[in-house]
Order: sequence, then structure tokens, then C-alpha cells
Amino acid sequence: MNSMNSSFNGKKAFIYITILVVVIIINIISNKKYIIGNFFSGSISHIELEDSHVKPFIEPKFLNRDVQVLSGYSIDTLLLKENVDEKSVVESSRALSLVFDPRDLKAGSNVTISYDWLNQTEFLGYEIDINFDQSVIVHKNSENIFVAHIVKKSYSKIVNSGSGTIENSLYQSALSKGISANVIMNLIQLYSFDVDFQRDIKKGSKFEIVYEDYLDKRGNVVKHGNILAAVLKFEDRRVPIYRFTTNDGKVDYYDESGKSARKALLKTPVNGAYISSSFGMRKNPISGFNSVHRGIDFAVKTGTPIYASGDGVIKNTIVSDRGYGIHIIIRHPNGYETLYGHMSAFAKGMYPGLRVTQGQVIGYVGSTGFSTGPHLHYGTKYNGKFVNPNSIKIPPGRILSGDDLVAFKKLVSDIPLSI
Ligand SMILES: [Zn+2]
Repeated sequence: MNSMNSSFNGKKAFIYITILVVVIIINIISNKKYIIGNFFSGSISHIELEDSHVKPFIEPKFLNRDVQVLSGYSIDTLLLKENVDEKSVVESSRALSLVFDPRDLKAGSNVTISYDWLNQTEFLGYEIDINFDQSVIVHKNSENIFVAHIVKKSYSKIVNSGSGTIENSLYQSALSKGISANVIMNLIQLYSFDVDFQRDIKKGSKFEIVYEDYLDKRGNVVKHGNILAAVLKFEDRRVPIYRFTTNDGKVDYYDESGKSARKALLKTPVNGAYISSSFGMRKNPISGFNSVHRGIDFAVKTGTPIYASGDGVIKNTIVSDRGYGIHIIIRHPNGYETLYGHMSAFAKGMYPGLRVTQGQVIGYVGSTGFSTGPHLHYGTKYNGKFVNPNSIKIPPGRILSGDDLVAFKKLVSDIPLSI
């Protein structure tokens, strides 16, 4: 009788310790945000750091074994396979079925089976991952009876980083550095306004990326978070971007100076003009025939500066007394081209291959080629086809100022990019 009592008290003490351990673990997991804090003060944290905090609490009490649910398995089959005694299987499943339909158990789900650390054959319960947010825990209560609850899973968020040199493609090179396909695709999208992935990226270009990962309590990455910063470095150009939330709550990516990484093409690449002919079918003023006008004409006096409507590389500088006359074609990233026709002259130093930035003067309005008076003919191509410049849907970029700019500059100086 006495020995039974003491073993019962022992169990009670064990349960209290278990609860204490669980509370400590929950605290650790829910306080993981401090790692982000560490990161911004200059050090990037890794998974090892967390494990070293968690393990000393867990190991002396539980022996946990992770198993995957195979196709066609019930929770009972799985437990019996793991040598859990039949009585415990029946009792624990009865508890489970009160909160979770065992038929909803999905193949591939993770189940963590817990045994007593000292008596490693003593089954204490298990946890099933139901979905990203929830798990169901089955364990013995203070009366030594199996009970079950659905619990909200908690994740720790860590900051990861990766960098490398590009061999064939950014995609392949980043993948080989262990960065997930998902994160790389996001990165490519963020750079699509600034970088032409077909032409700009050459062997030897470098990349670095700082991003968030969500870890479950086992330290497995369960979800990727945001890209916080990145940099691409080419022979002649370094393109960093930073994620920033402005005072009005909008999230965007900006270059080091606080200019949005999303750049629209200018709708009007000359000042003080009026539209004398828009895109579409019209009677050609020279031939007199009806034809499609593949651009927009801006009537404005000779000599007015013409601006590059977006960042890009000059594809052609053409001098002709026919067609578009003296004109420039600029290639922009990812399939866009712009054409500036009937110029009186190029700006100084224009040549094919020159990189130009949005708003840079590339030439001056004239009336060369087939033209009836001074105007700029502005054409845009997308994937080789002329499209209406007004139909291009690139959202306008934003430039940070005031308090936003101050906060942004601080963020830039706090993120340690190494290339
Ligand atoms: Zn025209």
C-alpha cells in the first residue's frame, strides 16, 4: 500500500515537473523575437543557438521520437509499430477521438511520441501536427488518465542569410547554397524592375540575401518569411534592396537612397508637351493612308530635352532621314523597350550599350525622318511587340522622405550586408 502511494506521489511530482518544463519551453519559444533584435545589432543568429537553449530542459524528462504517418496508417497502427502497449494505445486513442477525428490523420503528418526519459519504455503520449497552425497533444493528466487538447503551434522566427557567386544562373547558384526555391523566386521578382536576368547576370556576379525563416520546435523550417534585404553585385554595378514599412503601413523595397525598387516607366518623357497623336488607328499625316500609330506623339518645341523613361541600356542610336529619323531605343529589364523618335540630336555621349537611368537626358526634340513638325514620337515595346505606353501597368515608385527616410537610413546601417 505504502509503496503504491509513494509511486503515485512520484508520478504527481513528475507531472508538476512536466508542466513546469512545458511552461519553460513555451516561454522560450514565444520569446524568440529577441533573436531578430540580436540580428539588427549586427549578428546573424542560427538554428544552433536555439537548440542549445531548448535541449537542456527537454532531455532529462522526455525521450521524444518523431515518426511520419505512412499512407494507410491509423494512429493505432503507428503506435503499435512503435511498441506502445495495447492498453495505452486504446486509452490514448479514446482521448484523441474526443477532440480530433482520427480519420483526418494525413499521410506525411509528423507525430512526436514521448517516452519517459529514465524508463524509456514508458509511453507518455504524443503530439500530431494537424496543420501549420495547430497540433493535437495527447498526454496523461494528474490522475494518470489520457487527455487530449488541440493547441495552437508556436514558431520561432529566425533571420537567415546566404551569399555566393553566380555560376550559371542566380536560381541555380542560390539553390546550391541551400536557399529555397521559393525565396529565390521572390528575390527575382523583387529585382525585376532593375535587373535584366537574361543579360545583366553573368558568371562571377555575386548575391547576398537576408531573409526570415519560421522554425517549429524541432528546428525544422516550416515556412519562409520575408526577404529583409538583398544585394546583387555585377562587374560594374551593386544593387542593394531593403524591405521597409513606411509610417502609413505600406511595405515596399527600396534602394540605399530610399527610392522604391519598383520603377514605373515615365508616361511623359518630355516636359511641357501636349499629346498631338495617340496610340492606335489614324490617318497617316504623310502617306494619307489609314494605319496604326504605334506610339504617342508629344508636340513640343525643337530642342526640348527628352528623358529616358526608365533605367535601362541603350540598344540603338540611329541616324536616318526616313521613318523615326534620329532616334534612340532603350532596352529595359524583363522585356520592355522604349523608342524616342524624330530627335534633332542625341545628348552627348550616347552609344549602344550605355546604361542610362530614369530621367537622364538622352536627346532633344526635333522633326527628323517622316515628320510634319517638331514632336517626340514615344513608343514602347513589350516582348517585341509595340504596346500602348499608357497600358503598361508598372506601379509608380515611391521616394522616402522625412521621418520615413530617417528610419530607413537607420535600418540600412543596421543590416550588415557583406558584399
Ligand atoms: Zn508618332
